[in-house]
Amino acid sequence: MRLGLICGNLTPPVDGKPALLTHREAETIFHEFGHLLHHLLTRVEVRSLAGTNVPWEWVELPSQIMENWCWEREALDTFARHYQTGAPLPEDLFQKMKRAKTFRAANTQMRQLGFGFVDLSLHREWNGKDDVLEYSRKILQQFSVSQLPDDYAMIASFTHLFASPVAYGAGYYSYKWAEVLDADAFTRFKKEGVFSAAVGADYRDKILARGDSEDPAELYRHFMGRDPDPNALLERFGLV
Ligand SMILES: [Zn+2]
Repeated sequence: MRLGLICGNLTPPVDGKPALLTHREAETIFHEFGHLLHHLLTRVEVRSLAGTNVPWEWVELPSQIMENWCWEREALDTFARHYQTGAPLPEDLFQKMKRAKTFRAANTQMRQLGFGFVDLSLHREWNGKDDVLEYSRKILQQFSVSQLPDDYAMIASFTHLFASPVAYGAGYYSYKWAEVLDADAFTRFKKEGVFSAAVGADYRDKILARGDSEDPAELYRHFMGRDPDPNALLERFGLV
């Protein structure tokens, strides 16, 4: 038997009203629920390879993909309703939310790419002698539209790389790569139906149930029938 639990720090119910969660909180619940499904639906018998015991960039696919359902009208209408009138989310508000999501998306994208790139460069190419601040600044400059100050030292506070309780060294890219995978994998649901039982079952059998029993790249190909395509992520943020 497998047990799973989500612990969330969310808006509580107050003054006799139900808990009125923000959209971001709903997204978080969907995200964590994805981890839970990955954990619970595993069919792998070797514990160290089962459920969420998978590589970094693979552990966030099942969670991040769930967030997509918070951005689909068909899905939102099943739960995102006014707590007194039961009215669905107004269309103009929904459109505003979508516009806010893509606001300065290119900047955010470049920032994350810079972080992932500097992390990999430090681990793979830095010679161990050159000044780390200057070395990192030069790399990050390539991902910034404005001129970085001469004393720019973001790397010194980039604790993910050296002081995080989970070791991210050379693994920061996994955030972005997991986004590439989740945006792309979701296109199958978009094409075949966001509530398609057939795609859902296929996704469960080929990805959720398989843990780390096979190379994630292979698992991905089993589900999608091809390699990942980064275009879906660019499209999501209105960048193509
Ligand atoms: Zn997660």
